[in-house]
Amino acid sequence: MGTDIHPDGTSVPSAHARPDGRPDVEARRRRTFAVISHPDAGKSTLTEALALHAEVISAAGAVHGKGGRKGVTSDWMDMERERGISVTSAVLQFSYRDHVINLLDTPGHGDFSEDTYRVLAAVDAAVMLLDAARGLEPQTLKLFDVCRARGVPVLTFVNKWDRPGRDPLELVDEVEQRIGLRPMPITWPVGIAGDFHGLVERADGSMRRFTRAAHGASKAAEEILDPDRAAAEEGVDWERATEELELLGEIGADFDPEPFHAGTATPVMFGAALSNIGVARLLDALVDLAPPPTPRPSATGDRRPIDSPFSGLVFKVQASMDKSHRDRVAFVRICSGRFERGMVLTHDATGRPFATKYAQAMFGRDRSTIEEAYPGDIVGLVNATALRPGDTLWAEKPVTFPTIPSFAPEHFSVARVADASKTKQFRKGIEQLDSEGVIQVLSSDLRGDQAPVLAAVGPLQFEVVSARLSDEFSAPIKLERLDYTLARRTDAAGAEKLRGSVGIEVLTRRTDGELLALFPHKWRLQAVVQNQPGLTLEPLIAEG
Ligand code: GDP
Repeated sequence: MGTDIHPDGTSVPSAHARPDGRPDVEARRRRTFAVISHPDAGKSTLTEALALHAEVISAAGAVHGKGGRKGVTSDWMDMERERGISVTSAVLQFSYRDHVINLLDTPGHGDFSEDTYRVLAAVDAAVMLLDAARGLEPQTLKLFDVCRARGVPVLTFVNKWDRPGRDPLELVDEVEQRIGLRPMPITWPVGIAGDFHGLVERADGSMRRFTRAAHGASKAAEEILDPDRAAAEEGVDWERATEELELLGEIGADFDPEPFHAGTATPVMFGAALSNIGVARLLDALVDLAPPPTPRPSATGDRRPIDSPFSGLVFKVQASMDKSHRDRVAFVRICSGRFERGMVLTHDATGRPFATKYAQAMFGRDRSTIEEAYPGDIVGLVNATALRPGDTLWAEKPVTFPTIPSFAPEHFSVARVADASKTKQFRKGIEQLDSEGVIQVLSSDLRGDQAPVLAAVGPLQFEVVSARLSDEFSAPIKLERLDYTLARRTDAAGAEKLRGSVGIEVLTRRTDGELLALFPHKWRLQAVVQNQPGLTLEPLIAEG
């Protein structure tokens, strides 16, 4: 039986380690998901509330601990310590109703980066967290785009219902109108945002009434009322809720698993993470409605059955900048088979063997060993210098999973070596970081390879590149921000026509040779589209 380190520091028996666990049986118990949201919608609060309701069995990385709130702060990287943010992708594992739930953190806020998107390649579902007063916000929309492109089923949780907010019908309508996801509410609020009494369970019409808990300290007290009692005691609020539900029933918003799993409809729930309201309902929905790991399609289109020998997808590689942990951890999502520490896998990209002696759950500075894991689980492989995001690892039977696409960069900087005698190290470092997927490197004949353009989805990526070039390659750099905010894929003809246009530049992305046209803003792009209608200018995946 393996052990994991509980957030309070004690060891607990690992839920991975069930004797004779069959991959298909274990996979059915797994739910692997991420929360997509805009900063301040309440992701950290919800994560903590989920952990409160479920039993935390292991944590890889850490839960953000912000503003002195009790959390599990990772101090793995110097930069993290200085800024008080978590750069490492956290994976938190809970057990709930005999299920194992893996919650993958999508780094956001200032640390929004390509990794944020890559996490969505490793989940089977996403929870779209909305602030009741704000509805859909820009970062949520970007992340949703990636879910849509990948066909990830989305559950919607409308948060902060304890505060004044928008009308529930208006919120679900916004989801349908703006992103084309058909809402299928499974709970509905009794009482307007800010004067919230409880939730109607749509399936049986009962009401769960809450008494608010003090600031996330404990679970909110609750009682279940049958519809007659709810009508008698809740009066106009109950009438309003049931009328709204009838209206929704008429437009066919009943729960249907098929469109949900296909990513065209979303079950919607309401709650307040801070008061632990609706949080258990969300866990129940994850267990009852969200899909378990299913056979993953390979690059050739056929699907690797869950009970085939081990296969996994590297979705993130974290290089430690902490001097005492100068190593590289690859986060692997298990797609099929049973993982046992010590097994020797094949790294598909190179055909080389990869020993997994150092398979671990990352936990801040402490790392606990993972002995076994199953489809849906995440394993951290230490000293994984050869592994890149998008790589496949397999045992016995070869498979190649499709690589993770590069996402639309919105920040661009020219990098130059600060000390000309370090030019060789600089080139080598840039090449290394490009191949690791830390940053996208763009170049052109005009600029030469002494001054490549670095492209990022979040500005933190530049800081990571700077720090690593300086620490690992002894090649400190100077960065010059460029004014572009938008990239479009073009072709040779397009590049030719755009050459010389004021404020526009065409560069080649080194990893895949794509030609990217960079624009300062969308109006400049619109002007080009209007004036030169035949030009190839395709959007890249996920942009605002
Ligand atoms: P994140 O940026 O998405 O991780 O958001 P946080 O979890 O840090 O929450 C942002 C702010 O919203 C904090 O001040 C929280 O206390 C507050 N908050 C989160 N959930 C709720 C909620 O359900 N009700 C209320 N009133 N505030 C909330």
